[in-house]
Formats: sequence, structure tokens, C-alpha cells
Amino acid sequence: MAASLPVAPASVLGADPDPSFAELLAARSHLSMHAHDGLMVEEVPLARIAAVVGTPTWVYSAGALRRRARALKSALDGAGLRASVHYAVKANTSLAVLKVLADEGLGADVVSEGELRAARAAGIPGSGIVFSGVGKTERELRLAIAEDIAQINLESAEEAEALSALATSLGRTARVALRVNPDVDARTHAKITTGRSENKFGVAIEDAPALYARLAALPGLEPVGVATHIGSQITSGMAAYRAAYARLAELVQALRAEGLPVRHIDCGGGLGIPYRDEPAPMPEALAGAIKATLGPLGLPVMLEPGRWIAGPPGLLLASVVLQKQGTNRRFLVLDAAMNDLVRPAMYDAWHGILPVGPVDFVAPASPADVVGPVCETGDTFARGRALPSLKPRALVAFLDAGAYGAVMSSTYNMRPFAAEVMVDGTRFAVVRDRQTYDELLGGNRLPAWLGGAP
Ligand SMILES: *Cc1c(COP(=O)(O)O)cnc(C)c1O
Repeated sequence: MAASLPVAPASVLGADPDPSFAELLAARSHLSMHAHDGLMVEEVPLARIAAVVGTPTWVYSAGALRRRARALKSALDGAGLRASVHYAVKANTSLAVLKVLADEGLGADVVSEGELRAARAAGIPGSGIVFSGVGKTERELRLAIAEDIAQINLESAEEAEALSALATSLGRTARVALRVNPDVDARTHAKITTGRSENKFGVAIEDAPALYARLAALPGLEPVGVATHIGSQITSGMAAYRAAYARLAELVQALRAEGLPVRHIDCGGGLGIPYRDEPAPMPEALAGAIKATLGPLGLPVMLEPGRWIAGPPGLLLASVVLQKQGTNRRFLVLDAAMNDLVRPAMYDAWHGILPVGPVDFVAPASPADVVGPVCETGDTFARGRALPSLKPRALVAFLDAGAYGAVMSSTYNMRPFAAEVMVDGTRFAVVRDRQTYDELLGGNRLPAWLGGAP
């Protein structure tokens, strides 16, 4: 009865097979499989973390964070660039993650008051902080001025006028860069491309010279450079970066010809990572693209990487609730859901999923749909993924979940925020408590006319 046979997707049948468990492990040096302890992050078995902290839990490798921060800096140094790295805080706002990166000498790129406060709380000085975003409120700009941050990236003429008035009223001068939209296609997911003319970000590059001159003329503003950020998860080579930076270089030459000061160039973030087997560019390639296009200007550059630094070092640890046999497919129902890790539902993202148990790791695999308990069909992490049969309470790990993971969580379906753990060598610590049900319910109030306390 061919019609009732399970239909395995092409990825399992072989046209473009998913990477094997062994391949996924081999490409992630902070992970290893131990014959007795199962999947380890650095020297800590994930089973131990699950026993102590429960699941779902985010787990970050401090060692991997440090290695990536250093690799990025050495790529920039190697290209002979004068560069500063401002980690894009929105990728992962854990204070422990920020502290590890601050200790590596990284600055921060923030997009909200909360992120600015988090960066300061982690010890990143105002002089290392850049503030981006298309809708900074007056309150946020006030804080940015009070903290005397390195640079506010302006995204519109309207924002420039407002900041000028605010800074003047406070008797201060704000250092600003102009974020330009170079109208290049980063060829990434439509929801994370930011450098096309139809996107809301920055000002059109044609309008930039006049606006930059206006910044120089406005009181309370000191224009220090230009900035761009063309999108996220860029894995399609360096062509889009080169095109954007080449336009930026032309712009800087035009500004200089007008006698306008440009002290540095903010190159944005966006460097992609291999979630599956994408040919992800290395930082050396990005450094080379910057050198080739912007190098002749002889200016220092700033980078704002988020995902590249924080993505691979993190994973989401989850437990199997049950395995359910459907009409023609097997469902693995986990205790993690789209409210924890939304990337598959939101961006059709692929995450490696590894069994944590040593026996599960080598057991025969067959296609399974990996789902959470949330009442949405979109609460599906993977379809037709080759995984072994797993018993209730077996553990699995979603790889490369350190960026745009915990930060995008919600409490949808009244599910508390998961705990966050950091591993460093043989140590681990909870770096954010699992939200309690009291905390989850606690903000609710009944008005007196519904029976609440007057
Ligand atoms: C999100 C963002 C980044 C970081 O993007 P990644 O893809 O995580 O590197 C950098 N700069 C700005 C302005 C951003 O909005």
C-alpha cells in the first residue's frame, strides 16, 4: 500500500541530505559526545545541567564566545584594519554573555534603552557603545546623551532635528553617524534584509550628502561618520557587502570633497553562520572586503556583529514529553516550543537537533517531525528530521541557538521564560533564573469593578 507509506522529505532521501550528527558535532568544537556522559558543552554534560536546572534551558559556552570574539578581532588585525567591534546586544542580552564579551574588550551596538542599560550593567563603558534604530524615543536619546556614548546612528532627517534640539536644550553635543541605506540586496531572508530602498532603515544614499552637511550645521550635533547595516545571516558571499561598502566609500569621498569631517565608518553586522551546511563566510573574508573597498580611505572602521559571535556558542536543551505516532508520521513532542525558540516558525530556520544521550546518539534514526506543545501548527521545529526513537524525558539539543534565541522568547500559552546557563570549562552556573509562575502571573491586576482590591 504505497499510498500509506511515510513520505520522507528529499532532505532525508538524499538529494541534499542533512548533515549527520557526527558532522554537526565535528563543526562545533565546544561540543563533544562522551560514551558515558553523553553530549557535553565544554567539560559539562548536558544531562547534568538538565538534572539540576530542568528543561527547557538555554546553555551558552563562555569558551566559544571568547574564541569567536578573538577570531573576529584577529581577522580584522590580520587585514591591517584599525577596527573596533561593537557586539550587537540584541542577539543575546544575557548579562553573563555581555560580561564575557566586555572582558574580551568588545563594545556594544544597542537598539533600545534596555540594551543600553544591559551593556552598561555588564561594564561596557559609554565610550564603547553605539546606538542604532529607526525609532529612538526622546527618553532613550536622553539616556544616550547622559551616558556620553560613542555614537548615535541617526536614521532620518527628522531624528537629526529632534536630537539637535534635545542636545542643545541639555547644553551637550552628541556624536552622531548617519546610517545610509545603500540599496543592495543582501540575499537573505526577507524578514532580515535591511539595506534595500524599500526597507525602513537609514536614509537613501542619494540624500546622504545634503543631510550630512545639515548634521554639521545643526547645533548640538557632531557628525563623526557614516554607518550601514545591510541585513542578517548573510551567507551568500561578500558581493553584497562589497557593493554596500563601495557605495559608502564613494559617499565618504563626496563628503570629504565638501570639506565635511568623517572620522570613521560603521560597517554594521550581518555575517552569517552555518546552521545546516551553508557555505558561511569567515571573518577573514569580511575583513578582506572591508580592506578592499574602504581601506583606501584610511579611516578606522567599526563592526556590529551579533549572530556570528553569539549564535554558535548557544544551544537550547529540551526534553521529550512524548513520541506520538500520527497517521503517516512520527511526532516528537518536546517541552520546548515556538515561544522559546521562534526562529523555525518565524524565518523557516533550520537548527541542528542532537540527541543528548550516548545510546540515543548512535541508535538507528528515521524521519520525525519535531514539535512543541503550543497550540499553533507553526510550533514545528523540524519536519522529517532523521532522529532515533526517543522515550519521554530523553534530552535533545537545538544547536546554534545562542543568537536570536532567548531574546525572542515570549510567554505565549502562559509558558514561563526558560532558564539560561553558562558553561565555562568544568563549571556551569544559572545566569538567568527560570521564570516562576508567580512572576508570570504577578503583573496582573483586577480592577475594583471586576472584584479586585480597591
Ligand atoms: C541587528 C543589527 C546588527 C547585528 O546583526 P547580526 O546579523 O546579528 O550580525 C548590527 N547592526 C544593526 C544596526 C542591527 O540592527
